[in-house]
Amino acid sequence: MSHVYGVVPSRRLGRSLGISTIPFKTCNYSCIYCQLGRTTNMTDRRQSFYPYEEILCQARDFISRYGEDSFDVVSIVGEGEPTLFSPLDEITKGLRELTSRPLVLITNGSLLHDVSTRNEIMDFDIVMPTLDAFDQESFRRINRPFGKLSFESVFEGLAKFSREFDGEIWLEVMLIKGYNDDRNSLAKLNKEIETVNPHRVYINVPARPPAENYVKIPDENSLEFAKTLLGATGIEKLPESSFLSVEDDAFGAVLEIIKRHPMTEIDIEALLREKFGEESAEQVLRKLDDDASVEKSIYRGKVFYRYASR
Ligand code: SF4
Repeated sequence: MSHVYGVVPSRRLGRSLGISTIPFKTCNYSCIYCQLGRTTNMTDRRQSFYPYEEILCQARDFISRYGEDSFDVVSIVGEGEPTLFSPLDEITKGLRELTSRPLVLITNGSLLHDVSTRNEIMDFDIVMPTLDAFDQESFRRINRPFGKLSFESVFEGLAKFSREFDGEIWLEVMLIKGYNDDRNSLAKLNKEIETVNPHRVYINVPARPPAENYVKIPDENSLEFAKTLLGATGIEKLPESSFLSVEDDAFGAVLEIIKRHPMTEIDIEALLREKFGEESAEQVLRKLDDDASVEKSIYRGKVFYRYASR
């Protein structure tokens, strides 16, 4: 199991060295827009899925091989919800000894109501929670949470964390046409954002193939209205290709990334050309086409590859 992946280009963070702490598609949500597809391992029980030493050992290998100049931030992110992993504080402690780059946690924010989760993530520099819903019904329709998880407790957890945390909170709102992009929904989201008072607000849209094909990107007018009302920056454009991989085999390099982050055909070609030479791209794309665990789709005029199951 490779816990370290990328470097992956991020619209908000620059070049992000990804660290995944959880098994494939393990989450307590199954968001309709999820770029990894529907959640296959639904749980809200925090666990040590892997020894934290194993994760840190792989991060150490990457950094000693490629150096700190190869990435701008280290992101704890991955194949589902990273706060389902515990102990996250051992991960930040270990990473601080390996790099001076900012440590970022990308989370759905659902477990911030839990005091031990909040305590374990206090040493991150930036926490990037998601907030798409404004009541139980929108929470249920958009995020499709596990078990009895309620919108109220998730929102209260986020508000509480924002008061306790010394680092920066960059909130992300995923806007979906017909779900949370009308003026009434945006006014409610705005009220929540005022309570959380994050350092930054980003508006995202389903720029990569969503779990459900009925998910649509809002109209340009709604997006512009939302950005102004929420004081948000739009990150609806896909970033330029600048992937990097630690893998020595071309197919494995692509596979390790698409387990966590769908890639376009153009991204794959650019990654392989850079590291393995021109001729490897065609071979790998053919192998991906033949692999039953890889999904190929055309979304908004681009060919995407993502991992579907193990
Ligand atoms: S978008 Fe994030 S929170 Fe939602 S199902 Fe996917 S991994 Fe889980």
